[in-house]
Amino acid sequence: MSTDTPSDPVNGGLRKRASESGSKRDLTRPPAPEPLPIPVYDNHAHLEFEDGVDQLDPVDSLDRAEAVGIRGVVQVGTDLETSRWGATLAEHEPRVLAAVALHPNEAPKLFEKGLLSSHLSELSRLAARPRVRAVGETGLDFFRTGEDGRAAQIESFEAHIDIAKANGIALQIHDRDAHDEVVATLRRVGAPERTVFHCFSGDARLARICNEHGWYMSFSGTATFKNAPALREALTIAKPELVLAETDAPFLTPEPFRGRPNAPYLLPHTIRRMAETVEEPLDAFCSRIAENTERVYGLWDPSADSGAGAAA
Ligand SMILES: [Zn+2]
Repeated sequence: MSTDTPSDPVNGGLRKRASESGSKRDLTRPPAPEPLPIPVYDNHAHLEFEDGVDQLDPVDSLDRAEAVGIRGVVQVGTDLETSRWGATLAEHEPRVLAAVALHPNEAPKLFEKGLLSSHLSELSRLAARPRVRAVGETGLDFFRTGEDGRAAQIESFEAHIDIAKANGIALQIHDRDAHDEVVATLRRVGAPERTVFHCFSGDARLARICNEHGWYMSFSGTATFKNAPALREALTIAKPELVLAETDAPFLTPEPFRGRPNAPYLLPHTIRRMAETVEEPLDAFCSRIAENTERVYGLWDPSADSGAGAAA
């Protein structure tokens, strides 16, 4: 539909600023890390956000990522506009798959305006598009949304779970200060077959619950932070076949560049720290991350070989 198609769906259309102007942050882009030995994927990023002194459009960002061994990205929506943009981008760019959703902090605002159900209907149409391989980010956020927004948030989360199941695609969960309620909701309504805790923020206990249910845990730059030993402990407990990696770019830049603009090309810092934490050789760890990611979302580019071991 033409209304879904920005004039230049790959580079143009929708751009958002990640930080307020006048921020005291160092907005220069960190240098490219050493490439990974085996290509992996960034299963959660927001390419529509601009950050930093030099702007990266989606194609620049994907090129830089590919040069250091990030072969694909899941572009994640937070409202109808970003979800439509991501679905269209994925149809034009083989290195992108899309996730579509109304963010849990948007749901109560939409509910108040009487727009939640119409937005959910539109979302379920978007979720049927073939390059949309996940519903996300959805979930519960008790950090930014107070008591009075909770009912709408839970209603929206449950509707997103239904949309993921109806389309046989993955679910990407945003869980902020709401571990128990997220788990209770998944148990009550039944989780989709492939369920991912994006930017996993739990401890050993939540990692064991995820292991028990076969839920995926996606670790972001927070796994490199000095003050995150509980998160690294959770990573050592997570079943290796349930571990994924992401940037959540432009947010949560990994060490040693915490606070500077993030983009998928910085994922190798997180991957290296994760491999050290689980004491696995880097190449074996990368292969596993790639396999796990393809199991959750399918192949990015069905015409390309799937990487390691493919015959010439
Ligand atoms: Zn996100």
